[in-house]
Amino acid sequence: DQPRTTYRRVLLKISGEALMGDQGYGLNPPTVERIAREVKSVHDLGVEICMVIGGGNIFRGLAGSAQGMERTTADYMGMLATVMNALAMQSALEGLGVYTRVISAIPMDQVCEPYIRRRAVRHLEKGRVCIFAAGTGNPYFTTDTAATLRANEMACEAIFKGTKVDGVYDRDPIEFPEAQRFDSVTYDEVLARHLNVMDASAIALARDNRKPIIVFSLDEPGGFKGILAGQGTYTIVR
Ligand code: UDP
Repeated sequence: DQPRTTYRRVLLKISGEALMGDQGYGLNPPTVERIAREVKSVHDLGVEICMVIGGGNIFRGLAGSAQGMERTTADYMGMLATVMNALAMQSALEGLGVYTRVISAIPMDQVCEPYIRRRAVRHLEKGRVCIFAAGTGNPYFTTDTAATLRANEMACEAIFKGTKVDGVYDRDPIEFPEAQRFDSVTYDEVLARHLNVMDASAIALARDNRKPIIVFSLDEPGGFKGILAGQGTYTIVR
């Protein structure tokens, strides 16, 4: 029996580190393919899918600037890292027969499409997975903010944040086994208690546009599809 979902258009946000597998750095192609299969299983249900992938597996602007690089240059390097991750995901999805477009906030025409909102909407309507790369195109932002921005622009019903854990906890569940998971939590509580969901600007942007954020584990096989059908454990921020 196929799980059913009422979602028609969603955005999946994953960190760059999710593509690393057991490596300490970079891309692990079998891991990329595993996540691509999760995306395909949801695409097969007829759900329109946007994706935003971080770049932390390759480069983070803050880390570069802490070591003496000029911050905006370091941030541009981070944005370029997300383009590499997006291309890897495109390759994996197309290997599974899912049509995709990589759409970059920083134009690089030989590599991928520039971001044009109406064109991106059309791709979604035609069933293509849109992978939004280069974050917001601006330094001092993160791909969490890019995910919230694109989810708003594309009128996604929710942001699905795939992580290593099955939701939002009151403290780090890996360090503290007694940590409590929330079934549901408000944006303001996330901000006030500094809960580890997304950075503050992303949370505020989601709150101001009433975009729910569903935090779930991408390590569970079939997890993404199950969560869309309302099964399994997750935390909803709303
Ligand atoms: N970045 C940026 N503007 C954006 C999105 C990302 O400058 O709109 C840079 C920033 O330096 C960040 C890096 O790209 O550290 C990688 O993105 P992020 O840290 O969000 O990746 P994740 O932690 O999700 O892997």
